[in-house]
Amino acid sequence: MKDKDCIFCKIAAGEIPSATLYEDEDFRVILDLSPASKGHALILPKEHYRNLYDIDEETAAKAFVLAKKMVKKMTDVLGCDGYNVVQNNEEAAGQTVFHFHMHLIPRYKGDNVGLGWKMGELTDADKEEILKKIK
Ligand code: AMP
Ligand code: ZN
Repeated sequence: MKDKDCIFCKIAAGEIPSATLYEDEDFRVILDLSPASKGHALILPKEHYRNLYDIDEETAAKAFVLAKKMVKKMTDVLGCDGYNVVQNNEEAAGQTVFHFHMHLIPRYKGDNVGLGWKMGELTDADKEEILKKIK
């Protein structure tokens, strides 16, 4: 299914031009317009899924296999030193475009890409509560 108001549906379908690194029947991989680092790319499924909560399992699995292939290929192309694969779900987690996508962010030694979080501490109370609820 496509969403007629979704910009990533239009980009994935080729209706809006993009810097395409790779395309097959299920996905288009494009360069991000506001890259965190040189070579920052996005994997876009051609079907519309809001995010990870919504995507079908087969497409999710294929997306991750494609991420692996792109990371290997682009590491050779860019000469980068590592990669972050990032995927945001819902506004609270930083999602701004509500069509599933995976960020492939090349990392270069000494770059100032501001990814990360302040490490907390796993409390006994949290641990017990979560383990109890998951069972
Ligand atoms: P997120 O915050 O995970 O939803 O990421 C959305 C990403 O899409 C951001 O990194 C934007 O820079 C990128 N983006 C938004 N519009 C476009 C566009 N037209 N072409 C390429 N990248 C885009
Ligand atoms: Zn869409």
